[in-house]
Amino acid sequence: MTICVIHTGGTIGMAATPDGFAPKEGVVEAELKRLHDSREIQSDYIVVTAAPLIDSANATPADWNWIMRQIAAHHEACDGFVVTHGTDTLAFTAAALAFGLKGVRKPVIVTGAMLPLTEPGSDGSGNLQDAFSAAERAEPGVWVQFAGKFLHGARVWKSHSVAFDAFNASPTDKAPVQPAERFSFCEYSDATALIAAVAPAMNADLIALAVEHASGIVLRCYGSGTVPEGVGLRKAMLRAREKGVPVLAVSQCAEGGISLGTYAAGAVLAQAGAIDGRDMTLEAAYAKLLHTLSQSEDPAIQRKLLETRLCGEWAL
Ligand code: ASP
Repeated sequence: MTICVIHTGGTIGMAATPDGFAPKEGVVEAELKRLHDSREIQSDYIVVTAAPLIDSANATPADWNWIMRQIAAHHEACDGFVVTHGTDTLAFTAAALAFGLKGVRKPVIVTGAMLPLTEPGSDGSGNLQDAFSAAERAEPGVWVQFAGKFLHGARVWKSHSVAFDAFNASPTDKAPVQPAERFSFCEYSDATALIAAVAPAMNADLIALAVEHASGIVLRCYGSGTVPEGVGLRKAMLRAREKGVPVLAVSQCAEGGISLGTYAAGAVLAQAGAIDGRDMTLEAAYAKLLHTLSQSEDPAIQRKLLETRLCGEWAL
């Protein structure tokens, strides 16, 4: 078996510098060699390394495209993929890959670490070994392997900023894969979307401004899908509909999702044509919105895509 490791950066491959941890070349490669020499990982592997390695705070859709290109280039020759990534935006990248890859026939396992491999007691080696096991055995699709957990790539979120056990995912009945006869991938365009959260006494003019400048908006509503009922938000939502700017509504709660129509205080969303994001994570909603905006400029097609469950991103 041959596993393709796609190393993008992140804490796992960092070392201490006077400014704090920063990516360092060769760290992940050295640990892979040690694990292979000691037979703790038994598959053969190749490593593709991003240049430069980044803190995932700096990841953009161009990085998602680069990862997908590496997967495409090695899809036939390799049996599975391990993507090493920073944890801060790991959930965005996992979701972006789940939406961007079509008909992927190999497991794509995204992992990282909370403490660099260069530090004593790092969680990086264990996560790497678990990710290799998953890449050798898992069903095709985009998964996250972290702290002993095997998680759905389009349902995962970073739930802790310091603990090793840093990720969670809600259950879903569909694997993170989009079935297709042939493998292909859809690159992300440079369309931009804003994540906006409602809050008490919010200034809805800021949302109105976003409607004029962004190609799409993820609106983080309260609980099960309510928003402040002021005139400003209604105007902004109606303007978004008029301009063909999709508004994808999700909950500020990590679990449970929204259920539009439950409360009158959320009625404006349905009236203005906001799209029900159900119980999608914020990360999945953002990635799916960018994926949709990259697919078509036609609001009807965008709506159809956003209303379709593509890879188990919401629970039925
Ligand atoms: N800032 C780091 C990153 O996301 C955090 C990590 O990897 O744990 O690249």
